[in-house]
Amino acid sequence: MEHFAKRSTQAYQALDAAHHIHAFVDQKALNEVGPRVMVKGDGLTLWDNDGKRYLDGMSGLWCTNLGYGRQDLVAAASAQLAQLPYYNMFFHTTHPAVVELSELLFSLLPGHYSHAIYTNSGSEANEVLIRTVRRYWQVMGKPEKKIMIGRWNGYHGSTLAATALGGMKFMHEMGGLIPDVAHIDEPYWYAHGGNLSPEAFGLQAARQLETRILELGAENVAAFVAEPFQGAGGMIIPPASYWPEIQRICRQYDVLLCADEVIGGFGRTGEWFAHQTFGFEPDTLSIAKGLTSGYVPMGGLILSRRMADALVERGGVFAHGLTYSGHPVAAAVAIANLKALRDEGIVERVERDTGPYLQRRLREALAGHPNVGEVQGVGMVAALQFTEDKASRKRFDNESDIAWHCRTLGFEEGIIIRSTLGRMILAPALVATHAEIDELVDKTRVAVERTAEHFGL
Ligand code: PMP
Repeated sequence: MEHFAKRSTQAYQALDAAHHIHAFVDQKALNEVGPRVMVKGDGLTLWDNDGKRYLDGMSGLWCTNLGYGRQDLVAAASAQLAQLPYYNMFFHTTHPAVVELSELLFSLLPGHYSHAIYTNSGSEANEVLIRTVRRYWQVMGKPEKKIMIGRWNGYHGSTLAATALGGMKFMHEMGGLIPDVAHIDEPYWYAHGGNLSPEAFGLQAARQLETRILELGAENVAAFVAEPFQGAGGMIIPPASYWPEIQRICRQYDVLLCADEVIGGFGRTGEWFAHQTFGFEPDTLSIAKGLTSGYVPMGGLILSRRMADALVERGGVFAHGLTYSGHPVAAAVAIANLKALRDEGIVERVERDTGPYLQRRLREALAGHPNVGEVQGVGMVAALQFTEDKASRKRFDNESDIAWHCRTLGFEEGIIIRSTLGRMILAPALVATHAEIDELVDKTRVAVERTAEHFGL
């Protein structure tokens, strides 16, 4: 780091407290302990300012799919910065980096996707989604089709419309909503499945969509938007019956099916996109995170050819544009990232080798624990559900405190895992080796055991 001198951790923390409001945290409480100061990353390993090492079991925020320290991505950014650090896609203009990125990206996507609108983040991708979907229905002569249906406990970002589309009620209470958004329940069998089998519950959860569409009037409903598996909501994988039924309902009522692939995209599940793993065909995909492995911000909305054709052939001017859409440096990094994921066989390795290994090791280590109700996951994403009683699937009243404590013990043990309600979430970089997976699983087990001991479970 040549452009600023190293300071003590205390100095960073004091300045941080003086100037920052952090994400999803009680800032006053954080200021009392001070944040960790991360200074360096390589592969799956992070180091803080005091030299403590952490194995990052969360790929940052589900984004560093290639791991830290990839010099090919650095070189791509540097070359593009030197050549053309910025230009835009206004003024009848394009540039090679974004064109090359799109050629590569669409070669990795199923053939019925054809167009992209690039953004800087996942939240923005979903903002663009809402406007693009509504514009599409205007162009199709059905302007009254405006309502977006999302899911309770879904997450689509932190901007106003993305928050509204998501189903985090505590977020809705802070800053308000937008009109013409509705929600259905999440397909969280462990919590809400009662005596139903997962399959029967999956169908029931999907059919709520049909009920809601009929209540609202199919002529008013533009789209259903959901994550193929819920990420921030607790890494919840729906029963196998869920997505085919959702697909049927969307087709039957002429409602667009929009997949938020911000976490699931770019190899996380062992396929390039999570909707391929779960076997459905969305009309749009919201992407971000793994597109650049998080090295620089970039997101986007992918459109099916059918939607893009309508917008291009019949839409006229779409009054929409972002200064940084298709940013050349981000595009150059995305190209290097996608080439590495493809040419190094990383996605295939997750599918055939490291993904199954992580899933097997986690189940061996934790499925038998009396307070672990289920281990869910596919590829390089997994969750553990804390339970008070395995037979009845009873959740602890204080499950959030239990999981939060487990996360804190994880940091003590030198791993980064995340808690959501009563679930622990793991999503290591796709380049994780067997040895790194072993370390992550073994330390997760220690954190779970220490948590059970601490709470006297
Ligand atoms: N959609 C999903 C599914 C996400 O998980 C996230 C972020 N965790 C977002 C959208 C928002 O992305 P960003 O934070 O880049 O705005």
